[in-house]
Amino acid sequence: MSESPIVRLEDVTFAYDGRPAVEDVSLTVEDGEFLGLVGPNGSGKTTLLKLMLGLVAPDAGRVELFGEPVDAFDDGERLGYVSQHSTGAERTMPITVREVVTMGRYPHTRFGRLGRHDREMVQQALERVEIAELSDRRINELSGGQKQRAFIARTLAGEADLLALDEPTVGVDADSRDAFYTLLDELTDRGITVVLIEHDIGVVTDHADRIACINRELYHHGDPAGFVESDALARAYGTNSRLIEHGH
Ligand code: ADP
Repeated sequence: MSESPIVRLEDVTFAYDGRPAVEDVSLTVEDGEFLGLVGPNGSGKTTLLKLMLGLVAPDAGRVELFGEPVDAFDDGERLGYVSQHSTGAERTMPITVREVVTMGRYPHTRFGRLGRHDREMVQQALERVEIAELSDRRINELSGGQKQRAFIARTLAGEADLLALDEPTVGVDADSRDAFYTLLDELTDRGITVVLIEHDIGVVTDHADRIACINRELYHHGDPAGFVESDALARAYGTNSRLIEHGH
């Protein structure tokens, strides 16, 4: 692996119709790290994640993915993105869990023809997230936590190196959430880089290697202990301490 970070943002700014959502943000995501991205509602987290993945282009500044300028990057199967909304169709489609996970393999096939190796990769991914026994169930019959595992398995089957997750456990019960974050820890232990948007600060300080806290601008980018000790949280969230009280 090269020594360049997986993602590098330099002085990145992005506005919707002249209203800045991300302003002058510089940060890196290093190979194999688990970065937690926090900030109040509407603070630009989803926009920042999209900028990182090249899904939107910055108005100013520079974005690099895997050491290349993001607009030249064309190795999409290295990226796994589980957005808050894009999973809507799959959630309700009458297809099986195995079929959803198999979708991750198609970019690796010639003309969509699956071989034995592809089927093995799908099976391994199902086992890694511990939903192999659910593989013939329809995706829309699964619980929220199980569905998130299926979407992660899809990106694993596709051999993604970078997994980007936008509030993946909204509507998932507490036990399944804990299990889900333990799974993310296992993935980073295996060398997969994770960027997670999460509203529960406690989860992020428990699991992430580093935290980026934004409210349009970057308020903190560093380890969880430094984040807890700093006043970045209070500054970024302003007087909205409800979220802070819910943290640990
Ligand atoms: P977060 O993920 O932290 O909730 P977002 O990145 O979704 O924040 O949004 C940041 C700001 O940009 C918000 O004020 C939001 O209303 C605005 N915004 C997000 N998406 C769009 C869009 N497609 N068009 C216009 N404004 C948008």
